[in-house]
Amino acid sequence: MLKKFAEVNKNFCVSCGACAQECPREAINIFRGCYAAVNKDLCVGCGICSRTCPAGCIEIKTEN
Ligand code: SF4
Ligand code: SF4
Repeated sequence: MLKKFAEVNKNFCVSCGACAQECPREAINIFRGCYAAVNKDLCVGCGICSRTCPAGCIEIKTEN
């Protein structure tokens, strides 16, 4: 099965932390207070973070 994962557009991330708070897998950390960083090994591509992000800067991608 192709793996899905969340990808953050760092240019638009405002480091609010909402995605990290909502992620059921604890796969997101705010990297040095600058932007959200996704741990692809933990991420299951559920899309919760993407729907939560007020800046709309998380996309769910499929690995190919
Ligand atoms: S897609 Fe789901 S598992 Fe992956 S970072 Fe977002 S909330 Fe977490
Ligand atoms: S919810 Fe969006 S803006 Fe907030 S830290 Fe996560 S990716 Fe950045």
